[in-house]
Amino acid sequence: MISWREIQRNNFVQWKPLVEFLELDEQNAQQLLQKSLFPLYLPRRLAEKIEKNKLDDPILKQFIPLQEEHVATQGFCLDPIGDRAAQKEGKLLQKYVGRALLVCTSSCAMHCRYCFRKHFPYMSERKLFQQELEMIKQDSTLEEIILSGGDPLSLSDQVLEQLLQGLTSITHVQRIRFHTRFPIGIPERIDSSFLKILSLTRAQLIFVIHVNHPRELDEEVIASLKKIQQLRIPVLNQAVLLKGVNDDLLTLKTLLEALINIGVLPYYLHQLDRVQGAAHFEVSEEVGLSLLQQLRNSLPGYAIPQYVREIAGEPSKTVIAPSL
Ligand code: SF4
Repeated sequence: MISWREIQRNNFVQWKPLVEFLELDEQNAQQLLQKSLFPLYLPRRLAEKIEKNKLDDPILKQFIPLQEEHVATQGFCLDPIGDRAAQKEGKLLQKYVGRALLVCTSSCAMHCRYCFRKHFPYMSERKLFQQELEMIKQDSTLEEIILSGGDPLSLSDQVLEQLLQGLTSITHVQRIRFHTRFPIGIPERIDSSFLKILSLTRAQLIFVIHVNHPRELDEEVIASLKKIQQLRIPVLNQAVLLKGVNDDLLTLKTLLEALINIGVLPYYLHQLDRVQGAAHFEVSEEVGLSLLQQLRNSLPGYAIPQYVREIAGEPSKTVIAPSL
């Protein structure tokens, strides 16, 4: 059987093979950004879902570097949600009471063009987390640790196992949350060895996946999520409201229904974080609010995610609501 690492090595990383694979004509190919500090990184299984020669395909749009990224837009910056100011120790960030976030790695299964950490100055790939674990141990208010990145599932099982053991040896850590997009891009990552590590972890685990469009879900993805759910681990979804990807009622409704049908609860719909190079993805809050209202009129309450934006320095996410 091919390992997930081998599958990941087949990701598209060069624009020319992708142009050929997607059969992009010259006019479309000219819109691509050929060099970017945040490079192209697209799993083959996602590329296979993209309609040929269609630059505005909602899957492709999320991952294709375009010239538009070089347009400087007022109000968009390198660190839109205040990650730098929240740095507590090395890879440990804290923004909210009782929770802290580990930027475990710079690697992901794919590179999303609107990622708020696309300019994040990731530290060298120091694989272990002694200083961060020590800091968590010293702070008994930290009941929940969020494993993020990058994507924590980029780490080897060995490193993840050590990290989970380190965290669960701290008595006040009650919950460990994974933020991951791996099941969408490389569902093979959810293999028996990883599942075994999860099953042996004392703390309550929570998975928050990231799906923006219903076509990202398929039988293999769903089967990988089922394996996590079978361990009685809650799986939630966060999506980002993205122009040309999911900013219409039918797409969002189909996505939310598909999620609840597989037992994944819609958690957040994020307003785009205003990171430099992502302005072409922005949808106005007025449009977002109108979509949410229409969704409320046609779906059960538990299928409606909280529509939020993150404001640097605020003690929680800010729920976007109509002004009175
Ligand atoms: S998977 Fe997450 S961390 Fe990685 S590029 Fe996408 S949004 Fe950013």
